[in-house]
Amino acid sequence: MKRICVYCGSSPGGDPAYRDAARHLGTTLVGANVELVYGGGDVGLMGEVANAVLDAGGAAIGVIPEFLVPQVSHRKLTALHVVPSMHERKQMMADLSDAFIALPGGFGTLEEITEVLTWAQLGLHPKPCGLLNVAGYFDHLLAFLGHAVREGFVRQAYRDMLHVSADPDELLRQFRSYEAPTLAKWAGLERTS
Ligand code: AMP
Repeated sequence: MKRICVYCGSSPGGDPAYRDAARHLGTTLVGANVELVYGGGDVGLMGEVANAVLDAGGAAIGVIPEFLVPQVSHRKLTALHVVPSMHERKQMMADLSDAFIALPGGFGTLEEITEVLTWAQLGLHPKPCGLLNVAGYFDHLLAFLGHAVREGFVRQAYRDMLHVSADPDELLRQFRSYEAPTLAKWAGLERTS
């Protein structure tokens, strides 16, 4: 793994544990010789993880749409790619990265991690995805995913693609042994036409 994409809140969250975890993830990436790819902002947990990587002497690569540059783009990154739209940003972040981690965040974070999971279950990439479950932030989402499996909307094999740990080293260990499922998304589905 050369580069890992981190999705996370543009807000810092209320509990200082979130900032600490963002910084710890940043230093863990540098310790593992992995470069950071992220949304290019200097706000919230995004700024924390990028600054932790830079402070530890690592590489932080931002990908940001033009319209966000004046407000929030980080000015000291190793590289900043400015793209026309949010869609192109997410595509470039995914293309540059070998794995994906979500820290606590809001709609943007949830959208980004579920998009790469959706692409994974369609077989569009074989890259591992994980949640850094800081202070149980994702517990309710994980309970919901269990519900989605029980109700027949998510296959267990696809739910299991999503790694979960509160420890970034453990997440990286899980990533290294990950093998993408070979099951076709549409296998066994009844057609309606
Ligand atoms: P949210 O979780 O809603 O705060 O959104 C954060 C995620 O969406 C990040 O991973 C970014 O890629 C993107 N994003 C949302 N807001 C911003 C922002 N103000 N600056 C940069 N990226 C943002």
